[in-house]
Formats: sequence, C-alpha cells, structure tokens
Amino acid sequence: MNALLAFLAQFGLSLQAPPIHVLPHETLCRIMDNNCAHVAAVFLIDRPELNLVRGHIYLSDRVDTRTIKGQSIILHELVHAYQVQSGYYKAEECHDHLRAENLAYTLQNAFLAKHGHKPVRAFLPECPRITATKWTPYKP
Ligand SMILES: [Zn+2]
Repeated sequence: MNALLAFLAQFGLSLQAPPIHVLPHETLCRIMDNNCAHVAAVFLIDRPELNLVRGHIYLSDRVDTRTIKGQSIILHELVHAYQVQSGYYKAEECHDHLRAENLAYTLQNAFLAKHGHKPVRAFLPECPRITATKWTPYKP
C-alpha cells in the first residue's frame, strides 16, 4: 500500500487510503449488474442493504494483490479515492465520470509500464456529445 501511495504522490496525488475489502467475484458482479467479465473492483457504491460503505474499496477475490496487475487495480481505485477526497469527482455528469476514469486508467497504465507490463484496456462510460479527442487528462 505504501508503494502505491508513494507512486501517486509523484503525480501530486496525496490521499488517505480507504479500507479495502475482498468480496467473492460473484457478489461483486451482481452488484455491478452482472457485468462479470470486466469487474475487478468497485469504489463508489452506495448499497447499505448489502453492507457496502461508500468510500471503501471492494476487490474481487479473483484479483491477486501480490502481482503487479493486482496492485495496479488497487492503484486505480486509490485514484478514485483521491478524486472523492479532493472534491474533484462529483459524479454528477457523465463527462466528470469520463475524466475521472481517464485519470485512473492513465495512472494505472503508468504504473504497469514502470514495471514492464502492458497497459490494460480502459472501459469508459459512453457519454453523449463528447468524443474521445475532447476530454483531456486531469492535472492535479
Ligand atoms: Zn475506475
């Protein structure tokens, strides 16, 4: 965790690491409306009936956190934690969500590249009237 926080600090992102919980993959994909293929972790979720706390990170039990890929998934969620803690992420508009994901994937892939790994494919929200060339990486 400290290595991940140090990595983010290089980019000017300092944050309080939120609690991380591991959930069975099937539970996580049900929470994400059965989007089972791509879900590895969730952060901004408000499901009191499932005892999920907004601001905590929920990881799939299929993520091996000892690997660089697994660490990169935690790093991605820590970027979202930073975005919430800093007030950057309001999640009111699709465009905000898109920019938030853009930064998370950019830093996740920078972390993977640093360790000689290939980038992951970004799964981004599809926002109306915004094309891929119009949004810009977030600079803290
Ligand atoms: Zn994300």
